[in-house]
Amino acid sequence: MAKNFDYEKLGFKCGLEIHQRLSTKHKLFCECLANFFNDKQVQKIERRQRAVAGELGKIDKATSFESKKNRFFNYQVFERSSCLVDIDEEPPHIPNIEAIRNSLSICTSFNCEVPDEVQVMRKGVVDGSDPSAFQRTMLVGYDGKIIVENKNIPVTTIFLEEESSGIVKNTEEYVEYSLDRLGIPLIEIDTDPVIKTPQEAKRVSMEIGLLLRLTNTAQRGIGSIRQDVNISIKNGSRVEIKGFQELDSMDQIIDSEIERQLSLTDIISELEERNAKVGHAVNITDIFNNTKATLIANQIKQNGVVIAAKLIGFKGIIGKELTNDLRLGTELSDYAKSSGVKGIIHSDENMDKYGITKKELDDISKKLELGKNDAFIIIAEKKDKAEYGMELALERARVAMVEVPSETRGADSKKLNTRFLRPMPGKSRMYPETDILPIEMNQILKEFKPEKTNVESIKKTLKDEIKNQQLAEQMLWSKDLQLYRKIINSVDVSPTVVSSILLEKTKELRRSGVEIEKLNEETYLEIFKEYANGSIVKTAIGEIMSLVPKNPDDVHKIINDKSLHRIKGKELEKIIKSFDTQDKAKLLKDVMSKYRMNIEGEELNSLINKKGS
Ligand SMILES: [Zn+2]
Repeated sequence: MAKNFDYEKLGFKCGLEIHQRLSTKHKLFCECLANFFNDKQVQKIERRQRAVAGELGKIDKATSFESKKNRFFNYQVFERSSCLVDIDEEPPHIPNIEAIRNSLSICTSFNCEVPDEVQVMRKGVVDGSDPSAFQRTMLVGYDGKIIVENKNIPVTTIFLEEESSGIVKNTEEYVEYSLDRLGIPLIEIDTDPVIKTPQEAKRVSMEIGLLLRLTNTAQRGIGSIRQDVNISIKNGSRVEIKGFQELDSMDQIIDSEIERQLSLTDIISELEERNAKVGHAVNITDIFNNTKATLIANQIKQNGVVIAAKLIGFKGIIGKELTNDLRLGTELSDYAKSSGVKGIIHSDENMDKYGITKKELDDISKKLELGKNDAFIIIAEKKDKAEYGMELALERARVAMVEVPSETRGADSKKLNTRFLRPMPGKSRMYPETDILPIEMNQILKEFKPEKTNVESIKKTLKDEIKNQQLAEQMLWSKDLQLYRKIINSVDVSPTVVSSILLEKTKELRRSGVEIEKLNEETYLEIFKEYANGSIVKTAIGEIMSLVPKNPDDVHKIINDKSLHRIKGKELEKIIKSFDTQDKAKLLKDVMSKYRMNIEGEELNSLINKKGS
């Protein structure tokens, strides 16, 4: 799948923006629980946002883009993990000191300078993910670095900010968010755009994630870390790619984005040669009055209209693949969709697919006065939506003649490409939060000494602790490394056993359908404590883990109910005697198969051998 680009020649530049949720007890500006995703929903509230001119009197491009969508926002309110601060009905409380201390440890580990005094700022949020339409953020570190494969990667800034709320539902009319996630402390780490290849972007992301996990301040679990990538190439544009699900395909997705930009650059010169022009929207509903094209007929039945526009010189260009399953047609369609329409039909597509007849095509051709190099696009929808959608699609077509637009795009890890999300937001979006006094970092640092995490020494320790070196390497990159270290540090148990349970047993249980993510840190600690003090055997660990999701937080009850206590010493000898056989191998097998969950094979073996001698 590698595209074999000469990244240097292309002028490829890339910087990272990594977001990591912190594992504090409370949220950043209120006392709501910060890691409580099974809370009871008590209410739902509704808001609508409007574009407001920023400090400089200009309405931000991304803001007005969102507000034109004219959608409602719904927010799920919870019992213990949301409050009046979260819905902006009460001023923020004093900043969470645990979060500030954690952020200082992170800054130290990334070799950052820390300002003496920190002013909390408000940053405009346009997508409704914060009911207040802003997010609080503060610069806690700057001028840092991380060394990756002997190269210095400057860490420009580290911010401590509020996490946004999570999307629950996304429809044409409204977006629904849950407020339990809103306001959880979040760290943002920004690097300089010194990254020179997509493979390096992936490597640096991995190392930043690792260092964050090793500081013991990071929250575990799906979605707790997110990577955004800023890339640009010489003749293309700066694009921000968000939402990488996993790092595995990051390099391939970046490659696809490069290919997309190169294809769009080719299209610019092709359109120029053809003297391309973008036409106007024309109502062509008449043509389809008796149509068999279901999609269009349905819209007309519901009082919708059919509008079309001519794209002079675009024939063959709209349908040509730019990169992995992505065409200029996809781009026009993605822009149009922002108005709420379901998509567009364009003339490079197979019309049979829609049930559009030859006669209808001829009529369109006549009405739009199409020449042999001309293309057209159609939108069938309610009038307002259709007109606005067409306006957006035509704007995108006009831009296609001059440049690659600067956009925020989303990573698609299945198709290995990127899709349009919104125009790139402008810069002027920050203003001071006057409800919170500046934070005196120098005072905090007098009482708190942040710990600097040394990745190299942790790597070495891990390799010494875990006998199986393959497991050691896997453990290092595992999301559960933090959990592993916590268990090792608080329970006297073999690191090799812990790592094999966390890496291999969990995988096996997940495959057989156990919701292993439901096991929290406390439960793991409890299970390993039982094992360490000899109450259960190793086999029982996996058995308990498989039962916990359905009997949460009740390890002792599971051990009692399922008779998972370890049988040893005299009691075990009694059991051996009760099996009436002299054949040692048979004895071992029989006892083991009956008491697999209760006895340690090694002990049984030595007792049987002792018995015979
Ligand atoms: Zn709250």
